[in-house]
Amino acid sequence: MSLFSAVEMAPRDPILGLNEQFNADPNPNKVNLGVGVYFDDNGKLPLLECVRQAEQTLMAAPKPRGYLPIDGIVAYNQGVKALVFGADSEPVQSGRVVTVQALGGTGGLKIGADFLKKLNPTAQVLISDPSWENHRALFSAAGFDVGTYAYYDAERRGLNFAGMLKSLRAATPGSIVVLHACCHNPTGYDLDAGQWDQVIEVVQSRGLIPFLDMAYQGFGFGLAEDGAVIQKFVATGMEFFVSTSFSKSFSLYGERVGALSVVSRSKDEADRVLSQLKIVIRTNYSNPPTHGGSIVVGVLGNPELRALWERELGEMRVRIKSMRQRLVDGLKAAGVQQDMSFITRQIGMFSYSGLTKEQMVRLRNEFGVYGTDTGRMCVAALNSKNIDYVCKAIAAVV
Ligand code: PMP
Repeated sequence: MSLFSAVEMAPRDPILGLNEQFNADPNPNKVNLGVGVYFDDNGKLPLLECVRQAEQTLMAAPKPRGYLPIDGIVAYNQGVKALVFGADSEPVQSGRVVTVQALGGTGGLKIGADFLKKLNPTAQVLISDPSWENHRALFSAAGFDVGTYAYYDAERRGLNFAGMLKSLRAATPGSIVVLHACCHNPTGYDLDAGQWDQVIEVVQSRGLIPFLDMAYQGFGFGLAEDGAVIQKFVATGMEFFVSTSFSKSFSLYGERVGALSVVSRSKDEADRVLSQLKIVIRTNYSNPPTHGGSIVVGVLGNPELRALWERELGEMRVRIKSMRQRLVDGLKAAGVQQDMSFITRQIGMFSYSGLTKEQMVRLRNEFGVYGTDTGRMCVAALNSKNIDYVCKAIAAVV
């Protein structure tokens, strides 16, 4: 009898497991549309030029690596605040928003979840149906009961907005509602401005706690456009949470660059909230790493690099949009009868293709085209070389 003899084998992470399967696939034509990563038209993970230059500047004057403050690099947190709320915005100026550097967007969510658990241990967490797989896992692991609110309408290929409002109206006051700020993962369907107003109205009147997950700022319509929803929440004066990820927008996946921002009613409350966030961080990993955060500071704090970043982010956004159109056109040309134009109405890196699990399995086994069993495909992994092959493969299974 050993200490670990009763340990069960956990199921593989659905997305990362797909990656392993992809890597082991000998098919020379294989295409990985599973993981949410942006690849350029050559199928390569880009190193953004703004990142390369910021890194070069760091390398030119190497610094010793002392511990960072528990909440991270001051300039980094200021940069996040400026991006998410606006440097001159009232909540930033008044000091009622606190931002802490986090280990990616996941880390931001986790710090928020742990803090909320201490604040309100019996609250329910509501995530969209469907949502990013890790939302449920992460909030469950933090000790919450996780439920869902209606979101996707599979039949009509779009948002089940009436259902969403109905779910939120029925939520227990004090429930934590995880909302995708933009580029909904996995469906690609976002709320429009008027719908956000209605959701905010319900969230406010019902006394729900909004937790906005912003993992794709800049991939929808632009940094300011995608951030507009934050302004709407700010305008209500209510408390809310925002997790930020730079994994995609800076193509810095492995550096774990993200943040958590918490908006309070006053600076006094914000100061106390920050003190609690620091305890969560201190007891988990003590303080964040220096390198990725320093790169982001180097870009955001330098007007030329900042402009270059926006250009490069814009290029990624435009390339994804063009691949959506080419996918729709290519599927038609490959003989798919049904109207696939909904793909161009989706936003961000993903497309909920509407394909069944059986079709997705066939795509994988017969063609080496890897998407998730739910029919999610990463449009940002399509390129001018693999698009025709993917279109033909899809046409063969639908
Ligand atoms: N939220 C959503 C909706 C995501 O899609 C992702 C990344 N796949 C994250 C959070 C986590 O981002 P990060 O990799 O920066 O932890």
